[in-house]
Formats: sequence, structure tokens, C-alpha cells
Amino acid sequence: MATFDARDYLQQLPSHGCHLLVTFEAKDLQSEITMSNASLWRIPDLDVEQGHFQHQGFEGSLRLFLERVRLEILEAKHRYPEHTWKSFDDFLISLEQVLSGDSGMLTLEIRDPSGLSHVDAALEPKQTTFERSVRDDWALGVLYPRPTIQGHTAASVARWIRKSSRIVALTGAGISVESGITPFRSSDKKGEALWAEFDPTRMTLGLFNRDPTVQAEWWQLERKLMGELSKAEPNAAHQFFGMLEQQGKLHGVITQNIDSLHQKGGVPDSKMNELHGHLRRVICANQRSRLNPQPCGDGACDFEPIRFEDVEPTILLPTCPKCSAPLRSETVMFEQSMPEGAVESARAAVREADLLIVVGSTLRVAPANELPAEALRRGTPVILVNFDETRYDEQVHVLVRQPAGELFAEVSALLQRPEEEDEEVEVKEDVHEVVAETSTHAGTWDDGSEEEQLYGDDDVGD
Ligand SMILES: [Zn+2]
Repeated sequence: MATFDARDYLQQLPSHGCHLLVTFEAKDLQSEITMSNASLWRIPDLDVEQGHFQHQGFEGSLRLFLERVRLEILEAKHRYPEHTWKSFDDFLISLEQVLSGDSGMLTLEIRDPSGLSHVDAALEPKQTTFERSVRDDWALGVLYPRPTIQGHTAASVARWIRKSSRIVALTGAGISVESGITPFRSSDKKGEALWAEFDPTRMTLGLFNRDPTVQAEWWQLERKLMGELSKAEPNAAHQFFGMLEQQGKLHGVITQNIDSLHQKGGVPDSKMNELHGHLRRVICANQRSRLNPQPCGDGACDFEPIRFEDVEPTILLPTCPKCSAPLRSETVMFEQSMPEGAVESARAAVREADLLIVVGSTLRVAPANELPAEALRRGTPVILVNFDETRYDEQVHVLVRQPAGELFAEVSALLQRPEEEDEEVEVKEDVHEVVAETSTHAGTWDDGSEEEQLYGDDDVGD
């Protein structure tokens, strides 16, 4: 029986995934279906389905397909405890009825990100297409075209800035290091990291909501951070994006930081997408809100948020004057989901951008790690300013390993000179050509399915 591996056809993939809905009865069983192994298929009436890449794909008649399903179910049955066998038997009986023509209409649903599946037109399938997600691409092993030229200097960055008018920035801890903000995990592991001082496994939303000792520790951590923040000034990298805003070139800033330094550097709140919240306000843990989706109690408190600076500094654990629940900042704790809509609007911003600049994010955590792919798959240029190696190093248009403040000070200076002088700089710069190619090595990229984490691109705990 023919199998069908979508990864053998990466060079010919349709631009979209396909969704097929087929209703059939016994007389249709000779109709042909072709289903790639990237498909999720489901027969809701029989309560059976197989997920993407959980099968080998299929080419042949609907009858053969159902017979194969029957064999697989028979085989699977004996791997499960005896008390579950009845549900397998019920399914097998229903399937027998279909195969012997004693059943009415059934529905087969196929969702195939590869877009390669199709069925006999006689079955009159309802067919729609959908845009593959970055994760679909990664599962299939689709890589994006490499840029023909990769640059490595301020001049390359300046050139792309001149050409662009809808610039989106994605920033992580690395952009604020030169402003004196301690990263949550320093890449050199020299003990600067906050997690050397605080136990990250205790800083979960669940524990915070019920354990007063965790609440007190958490306040100690937040106050230490706030102490640093109140002294911190935006550096040249933050100011650079403020300048782009003044020039009308900034489409938005997506940040994993909670330090508000972008706003201090001149980016308006309306253009900020703070994936992990911020430390500007303090709310009641018993009030349900966008940044407190799981309140510690019934969520009904109506405490009006206050400024972090207005919390009495001598109290070990500040509580709500209305309901006595602990107060907390509008930041995302471990095991807390990102603010509602934040991920979707980050993806949308990147789709609308004509240049994506990633600064100081190690790109280890979703959804930040998917955003450069959102740009690259559309052919949008990406500039990556980062000390750590990432999966994107070979794919981006400009890769710079230099402190962000230092780099963007140079870029700002270059942009103040007339454009013609760019060429002089170009002669000196380290540009190497990369052979244009579309790599298609399945499995080169993992699926990046790590969970979202407390502020920052630090993959705590590894
Ligand atoms: Zn309250």
C-alpha cells in the first residue's frame, strides 16, 4: 500500500496548506484519496483521528484507507489495558458496517499543511486553503531562501535602515545590559544572573497565588529589579528606536524585557508590545486582568492599580487595602500565559514589517523564536544583533556580534552622513556572499516548542 511522505516534495510544495472535507458512503469506497503524512485526518462519526506525522501518508482507494485504519486499530487495541477494549470494538463494528455497505454517510476531514493531499473530484470535497504556520514549516523541514549577501557591520545595518519604512524591533535582555540591567541568566554564567540569587522553580504563578513565603521572596526579587530600573537610562540602542519613531519609520517594538527602557528612549506606549509585561504598575493578585489572568481568589477585587514607586518600601509583603490579597506587578510569572493578544499582534507586526531588527534575544523561547521565521518566509530582511549563536545565523541578512549600544551609536552616526558615503564604508566592511539556495534538510530546525517563560529570553533551568 502506497505511503506518501510530504518531505520528499519540499521543492514542489504548494504555497498553502489545504483543508478537505469529504462526505462518503459505501458506494464511494472506490474513490481515490491521496493524503500526505503531514496531514491530520479525522472521522468524527467514528471518533477516530491521527495527527500530523503520526502516520505514513496514503495513496489509494478510500476502501483501502479504511481497511488500513482497521488493521492499525486492531493492532493498537492490544497495546492498551483490557478495560479500554470495548471502545476499540465499538469502533471496529462501526467500521465493518461502513465497509460492508450497511452504514449511512460519514465525514472524513483532512488538514494538510503541505497542501499536497487531494481526493477524487467525484467525492465533491469541500476544499479550503490556509497559510502554513512557522511550526508547520518547521515540522515539514521547510527552510527559507538564504540572503545572497550577508553583512556584518554597522554600514550594512545603516543601508537597510535607509531602505526601510516599516521597521519592527524584537528585543531581549541583551539590549539592556549596557544600561546596567542584570540579565535573568547571563550567558557567561559568572553568577551575575538573578537566578543565582533566587530560585526560579519557586517563582511560578501557582505558588505565588497560595504561598506567602513565595510572595515575600518574589517581592524581594521585584524590588531588586526595580532598584536597578530606577537608576537605569536608555542606551544608544534604545534611543535608536526612539529616533526611528521620530523619522516615522518605526512600526513597532516587541520586547521580552520588563524594564520600560524603550519608552524612556522615545518609543510611545502605543507602539510597544511587552510580551512579559512591565514593572510600572502594581495590581491586586485577586483581580482578573490582562496581566493577571489567574487571580488568587474569586478575581472580583476592584483595587485601582498604583505605581510601583508608590508601594511602601518597608513592608515585606504589600497587600491590597481592599481585599488583603498580595499585590503584584503587571509582569508575566513562570507558568503564566502571555498577555492576551500579545503573541498574535507580535506576529501581525512582523508580517507588516519591511525590516525586522532582532537585538539581544537568544531566540530560545516561543514565540520570540518564531518571529524571525515569520519575516524570512516572506522575504523580509532580518538584522540580528546578538552574542549567542542562533538557528538564524545563516539565514539573516545582517549578523552583528557587538554590544547593541555601541553598534547603534555607530549606525546613528552613519545615518547622519549623506547616503553616497555609504559606498566608501562598504569597501572596508566585512561582507561575504552566501550562495543563494533554499535548503531543505528536514530536521535542521527543531520545533522550538519550549514553553513561554518569566520575563526574558532566558531558558531557565537548562
Ligand atoms: Zn484586592
